[in-house]
Amino acid sequence: MLDAIVVGGGISGAVAAGRLRTAGRSVVLLEARDRLGGRTCTVDLLGHAVDVGGQWIGPTQKRAHALARRLGIATYEQHHRGAKVVRLGAHTATYRGLLPRTAWNGGTVDDPRIGPRQLLSLGRALAHIELAALRLPVGDPWDARHAAKHDALSVEEWLTRHVGDPVARRVLAWGVNAVFACEPRDLSFLYLLHYARSAGGFQPLLEIRGGAQQTKLHGGTQQYAKRLGEGLDVRLDWPVRAIVQDERGVTVRGERGELRAGRVVLAVPPPLAHAIDFAVPLPAGRAAMHAKMPMGSALKWIVAYRTPFWRERGLSGEAVGDGRFVRAAFDACAPDGSFHALVGFVFGDDLAGLKARDEAGRRAAIVEDLASFFGPEARDAIGYVDRDWTSETWSAGCYVGVAPPGLLTEVGAALRAPAGRVHFAGTETATRWTGYFDGAIEAGERAATEVLGG
Ligand SMILES: Cc1cc2nc3c(=O)[nH]c(=O)nc-3n(C[C@H](O)[C@H](O)[C@H](O)COP(=O)(O)OP(=O)(O)OC[C@H]3O[C@@H](n4cnc5c(N)ncnc54)[C@H](O)[C@@H]3O)c2cc1C
Repeated sequence: MLDAIVVGGGISGAVAAGRLRTAGRSVVLLEARDRLGGRTCTVDLLGHAVDVGGQWIGPTQKRAHALARRLGIATYEQHHRGAKVVRLGAHTATYRGLLPRTAWNGGTVDDPRIGPRQLLSLGRALAHIELAALRLPVGDPWDARHAAKHDALSVEEWLTRHVGDPVARRVLAWGVNAVFACEPRDLSFLYLLHYARSAGGFQPLLEIRGGAQQTKLHGGTQQYAKRLGEGLDVRLDWPVRAIVQDERGVTVRGERGELRAGRVVLAVPPPLAHAIDFAVPLPAGRAAMHAKMPMGSALKWIVAYRTPFWRERGLSGEAVGDGRFVRAAFDACAPDGSFHALVGFVFGDDLAGLKARDEAGRRAAIVEDLASFFGPEARDAIGYVDRDWTSETWSAGCYVGVAPPGLLTEVGAALRAPAGRVHFAGTETATRWTGYFDGAIEAGERAATEVLGG
C-alpha cells in the first residue's frame, strides 16, 4: 500500500506530491490528461513558447516566485510602457493609470462616454470594495460580520444597488470579466471580496505593475508542473472515477486499474471532483462546493505580428472594453525582440458567439476586433493560436471555480477540512491568491503538511 495518492497533476497536485516524496513517503501522482500542468499549458507559436493557459505572476505572489527560482525558471517583466486603449461603444481612446476614460466630459445615454462623473462613481465603488474586502478574515470569508448579507448578493445586484452610473457599472463589469472570466450575475459579492482579500486588495488583481500581471516565465508556466513531475511516479492518462475509503486506507479506481494508499490528496477543480464517485459521502459543505461551483468561461488567444506596431505608436498593448469579442488584451512580445504578439481573452457570454467557428473564423473575428482597438495594422497577423477552456474536458472552464450567491457561506470551513483520509488541494482552496498559481502552491503545500501530520 502506498503512503499517498495525489489526484490531479496541475501545479497544486504536483507540489503536494513533490513535498510528500521529499519527506520520504511513497506517492503516486494520477493525471487524467496526457500531460502535466492542468490549467497551465505552453504551446509553440512560430517557434516561441506561449502560454494558452495561466501566464503571469505578481510581486506579492511569494510562493510562485520562490518555486520558479527553485526550479531554475527565469522570469521577465510584462511590457507596460505607453498608453492603454479603451473602447466604449463606438469610442476608442487612450489613457494612463488605473481607470479608463474616453472623454473629459461625460456623454449621454445614447452616446456613452467615460468622463468625470463616471470616474468619480468608479473611484467610489473601488474604494467601497477595497474597504469591505479589508474587513474579511483572510481565508475564512464566511466568518465576516456581513458575510451572509454580502453572499446573498450577486456582483450584478451589488453594482445595481451601489453604483448609480450605468457606464461606471459597465466598466466595473469589464473588470469582473477580466479577473473572474465570468459575468457579474454569476458571482457572489462575498466571493469577489474574498478574492480581493486573498490578493491583498482588488487593485492588485487588475494591475500589471505591482499586480497579478507583472511578471512572466521564460519558456512558459507549464514548466512548473513538468519540472515538479521529474523524479515523481506520475501516471498520465489515468482519470480517477471513484474514491473509496475505509478505516485502513483509501482505494482509488479508474479504467486503468485500482491503487490503494493511506491518504489521498484531491487536487482537481470543483466540477471535476463532482464527477468522481465517493463511496463514503463527503461532508455536506464540501459536496456542495463540488456540485455548485462551476468554472468561469474564457478563450485565450495569442496573435503574432511582424512588428510591435502598437509600441511604435506609443501604446503599451493593454486594452480593455467593448470589442465584439475581445474584452482585454496585453502585449505578448518576447523580451529579446525576436517575437511580437498580443494576447487576450474572450469571456463569458461573448464566447458563445465564437463557439461555432473554426480556427480560421475565430482568428478573423479576433483580428478584426483588435483592429478596432489598435488600428488597421492589427489585421496583418502572421500567426495565431487559441484555447477554449470551456471545451477542455479536464478543466471544464477557467480560470477558476466561481462561487454563485449563497455558496461560500454554505461551504464554510468544509472548503479545506479533510474528509477522513481525503485531503483537498487545488487553487480554489487557497487562503492567499485564491485562483492563481500562488494559491495552487499554497494549497498543495497545506494538503501535503496535513498528510505528513496525520
Ligand atoms: C486561460 C487561463 C489564464 C489564467 N491566467 C492566470 C495567470 O495569469 N496567473 C495565475 O496565477 N493563474 C492564472 N490562471 C489560473 C491558474 O492557471 C490556476 O489557478 C492554476 O493553474 C490551478 O492549478 P491547480 O493545480 O489547482 O488546478 P489544475 O491546473 O486545474 O489541475 C488539476 C488537474 O487535475 C486533472 N484532473 C481533473 N480531474 C481528474 C480526475 N478525475 N482524475 C485525474 N486527474 C484529474 C486535470 O487534468 C488537471 O491537470 C489562468 C488559467 C487559465 C486557464
